[in-house]
Amino acid sequence: MCNQHKTTSRVLSAPHAKAKFENTTIERRELRADDVLIDIKFSGICHSDIHSAFDEWGGGMFPMVPGHEIAGVVEAVGESVTKYKVGDRVGVGCFVDSCGECEYCVNGDEQYCTKGVVQTYNSLDYDGNPTYGGYSQKIVVKEGFVVRIPDKLSMDAASPLLCAGITTFSPLKHWNAGPGKKVAIVGMGGLGHVAIQFAHAMGAEVTVLSRSNNKKEEALSFGANHYFATSDETTFTELAGRFDLILNTVSANLNVDQYLSLLRVDGTLVNVGAPANPDQYSVFSLITGRRSIAGSLVGGIRETQEMLDFAAEHGVAPMIEVIDAKQVDEAYERVLRSDVRYRFVIDISTL
Ligand code: NAP
Ligand code: ZN
Repeated sequence: MCNQHKTTSRVLSAPHAKAKFENTTIERRELRADDVLIDIKFSGICHSDIHSAFDEWGGGMFPMVPGHEIAGVVEAVGESVTKYKVGDRVGVGCFVDSCGECEYCVNGDEQYCTKGVVQTYNSLDYDGNPTYGGYSQKIVVKEGFVVRIPDKLSMDAASPLLCAGITTFSPLKHWNAGPGKKVAIVGMGGLGHVAIQFAHAMGAEVTVLSRSNNKKEEALSFGANHYFATSDETTFTELAGRFDLILNTVSANLNVDQYLSLLRVDGTLVNVGAPANPDQYSVFSLITGRRSIAGSLVGGIRETQEMLDFAAEHGVAPMIEVIDAKQVDEAYERVLRSDVRYRFVIDISTL
């Protein structure tokens, strides 16, 4: 089925940084030959949405429609689309276009495209038009940037996998989390609680480092082998030199030296959490153990599909709280207070 017209979509839009969301409308582009029109069912709230809507990273483009954890159903396809048909359950993550030609795009690492990846929102597409994300009834995306949601995954719980899932799956795989590896997950929020499940499913020995003991029972139910509160200073002496890999999912700055001291020789601290201010650490924390500090940005399209299929196969599922569109401002406040277990997902039918 083709769609020769622009599509009007209700959206939640922030008129300026830190503003309350307004329920308004935008136009989605006419379908190009390789486009898919998606009727969005659920959209997760990532902490990156808050960093962006509050313009904490700078460069925010307003009005802004956040949302890059999109789960929906195909409503129409352009004439050359072959991968999807009307009615298919699909997802869209953090980006919607890339050059397709640079070595990173060719290798399936589109997020590192040398031309600059087009983010799902708060970005300009290659024609110079602003992009608007998933707090929206409809979205039009090139078929190559759409992934399939396996039947085994429910739509609402699948949505957070499109960012929280791939952002943790990709580095865990890249740094070989698996049997015989001791992996620590720092921060048990939206990303962290999925990271525990993936690291466990990959066969690693998983330790959770959370500020308090409040989340211990749930961490163990997600597959963690050990759990420590970082508010307890003895945690850092007890775990010194323990881990091959530490995945830091925290949205705020940490005492990096303290965490580096928990790595074995040759261990790596991978940051996916993206606080606005720079981190500080002593180079001695690295050279005394040939340790590395690294970072990782979401994951490519092929790998996102692999992650969804892996989640379906291994029963990895975000624990979510589904909310109405009018609760999003309040949900942001609650995420900032870490009062979420463990991901808010907007029911788009309430928009
Ligand atoms: P979230 O749900 O708010 O979780 C963050 C967790 O960090 C909290 O649950 C809390 O865990 C811990 N935390 C928060 N404030 C802290 C503080 N002041 N000190 C120590 N720990 C603190 O956020 P999220 O959606 O998982 O996102 C986490 C970060 O990843 C954000 O910065 C986001 O922008 C970034 N991100 C990056 C990528 C990427 O591609 N690299 C992709 C998505 C998101 P405990 O209660 O367990 O301590
Ligand atoms: Zn995200």
